[in-house]
Amino acid sequence: MAYSEYWNPKNETLPREELQALQLLKLGRMCEWAYTNSPFHHRKFDEAGFMPEQLKTLDDIRRIPFMTREEWMQSIMETPMFGDVVATAETNAIRYHLTSGTSGRTPIRVLDGMKDWEWIAEMWCYGLWGFGIRPEDITYFAFGYGSFIGFWGAHYGMEKIGSLVIPGGAQTSEGRIKQIIEMGATTVFSTPTYALTLWQKAREMGIDLARESKVNKVICSGEPAGSIPAVKRQLEEAWGAKCGDTAGMTELGTIMIFECSHQPGGTHIIEDHFIEEVLSPDGDKPVGYGELGERVVTSFGRGFIPAIRYRTKDMVMKVPASTCSCGRTWDLYDGGIRGRWDDMKLIRGTNVYPRAVEAIVREYPAIDEFQIYIWHKDDLIDEIDIKLEIKPGLEAEWPELQHKLAKDLASAHEGLRFNIAGQALDRAGAGFSQHLRDA
Ligand SMILES: [Zn+2]
Repeated sequence: MAYSEYWNPKNETLPREELQALQLLKLGRMCEWAYTNSPFHHRKFDEAGFMPEQLKTLDDIRRIPFMTREEWMQSIMETPMFGDVVATAETNAIRYHLTSGTSGRTPIRVLDGMKDWEWIAEMWCYGLWGFGIRPEDITYFAFGYGSFIGFWGAHYGMEKIGSLVIPGGAQTSEGRIKQIIEMGATTVFSTPTYALTLWQKAREMGIDLARESKVNKVICSGEPAGSIPAVKRQLEEAWGAKCGDTAGMTELGTIMIFECSHQPGGTHIIEDHFIEEVLSPDGDKPVGYGELGERVVTSFGRGFIPAIRYRTKDMVMKVPASTCSCGRTWDLYDGGIRGRWDDMKLIRGTNVYPRAVEAIVREYPAIDEFQIYIWHKDDLIDEIDIKLEIKPGLEAEWPELQHKLAKDLASAHEGLRFNIAGQALDRAGAGFSQHLRDA
């Protein structure tokens, strides 16, 4: 059956001026809704002297005050359980989720109503259809159906597309692998880390997923690694499938960006439902195409908890829609989400981002796991060590690898010296992702 390449052919190819007119209209409606119904936003708009009717052009978005995680937290503490950011009666909610509470932060609690969930699923449809998923696909969720909101949204999105959905639920990796093969699943949803674990597990079971499963698409979410080129290649080779990256936030309820089937090395922004500004970090100056900045998100779709100019602290680089050949008029983030501004470490005057280090380290197939250690030598000099574990059988590559990796890392960091060590890792703490330790 011949399908359109787009989930929403009209909006995904809207000329820029029409798209912006649509955004302005939706922005105005969302601001009015928030001002009228959310005490949090009412207070903030008043304090900033902003009224929704002041929105005459899209540039007027800069009159709207930012919304920060800290303020949201504060609101939750002062008005438990959900804060006065909520714009409708809590009894209208059908679901409760919370953020993962990484880096020791208190989780944010969110509520959504039926309308919100319909919209959350719709956003996933844009991304999943865009990556090539069709009603004929059989999709497997390698997901325990816990409080992580992401794959719940993807699940409903898949149902809306009309695909057969197999909820993996809580079971062993072995059980999941058997089910994937038995049911002829063509699409697997997983975090990138877990998709690699499943592949390793299958290998131990004597199963080659690339040959013995029908999986041709692996959809990643929940971790930024899905956009790291080397991780992507590894996953694609392991599964014999295309690997698509998506990124969402519990604070926003769903995905705002997705990778299309043309895989241009970046993710399209769903611009008919979000305005994604890229601003100087900790400042309010817009940065241009091709420059790194902080993404600030405004959502038009979530009525329960309006998110307007929400500062994400995510590091991104916007590039124009024409960068991709798919015909969408929606801009992209080159390289997806590149990390978080608050993960940045200043080492001897040079900015170091764990994600950027990971992207370089992952280019070496012989490296199994790695950890990043930052410590103070004689209380004076900051040192950065990369401790590696080499894959069994590839130890002979070590001397050359050590030399070359140090050189690659230095040249990507203004000549900064990285100490490369091949010690055995602390297995208890070793995961797929980098570990930042301040020794
Ligand atoms: Zn595209």
